[in-house]
Amino acid sequence: MWKRIRITVLLLILATVALETWRAQRAATSWRDTLQVAVYPINGDGSSAAAQRIQALEADSFVDIEQFIAEEVKRYEVPTLQPVRLNLQQALNTLPPSPPERPGVLDSVFWSLKLRWWVWRLPTPTLRPNVRLFVVYHEGSAGRVPTSHGLQRGQIAIAHVFADKAMQRSNAVVIAHELLHTLGATDKYDPATLEPIYPSGYAEPLATPRLPQRFCELMAGRLPGFSAPPEQPRSLAQCLIGEQTAREIGLLHP
Ligand SMILES: [Zn+2]
Repeated sequence: MWKRIRITVLLLILATVALETWRAQRAATSWRDTLQVAVYPINGDGSSAAAQRIQALEADSFVDIEQFIAEEVKRYEVPTLQPVRLNLQQALNTLPPSPPERPGVLDSVFWSLKLRWWVWRLPTPTLRPNVRLFVVYHEGSAGRVPTSHGLQRGQIAIAHVFADKAMQRSNAVVIAHELLHTLGATDKYDPATLEPIYPSGYAEPLATPRLPQRFCELMAGRLPGFSAPPEQPRSLAQCLIGEQTAREIGLLHP
């Protein structure tokens, strides 16, 4: 008897969580209201370069991401005036849980649950966000930063970026890419070669000649051309949202 009640209660909780997740995802990609994104800066390596960069952040430091998405939403003829707003929050002194080194299915699920629990315990911003975006700054002296992640379930993105101010525009490409993952966009490059996948990873798949492409498809992350690996875009001005990504995030309907 008790066992049955316990199982029923557990199933009810799981169904409620699933329904809430589904509702949140639908609301985020309906493009009816402004998508509110809470941006939390984090010092990723304890460096003074990252601390200074975080100190210098202002309310409009992420405006090029808002403008890029607004332009693309307009290009897909969706009439939302301000589709996305990135609201800068107080910097955090803790890092999100590290992802598994060799991602198996179970490890990934466990990490995603740990991450959601970590996020749940953070102070809630006054404006309830649709998406929580953690921008982790690194001095990155070896020219590398850890891999970034964007999760549709829980709508959480972790973007690892360079503290150098000169990298701000290319950082915006990484941040926008992870943000779109939280809305359901998938990667459109071959992880082994980093080559954009044709046609979904090409911003202008019908262009002739096909190469080099003028723009980078944001979820492919690189400009298809003649170099290997292909070039990374220097800013969002070199990027577009391709048709498949537009479908995945609800801007285009088949
Ligand atoms: Zn990605």
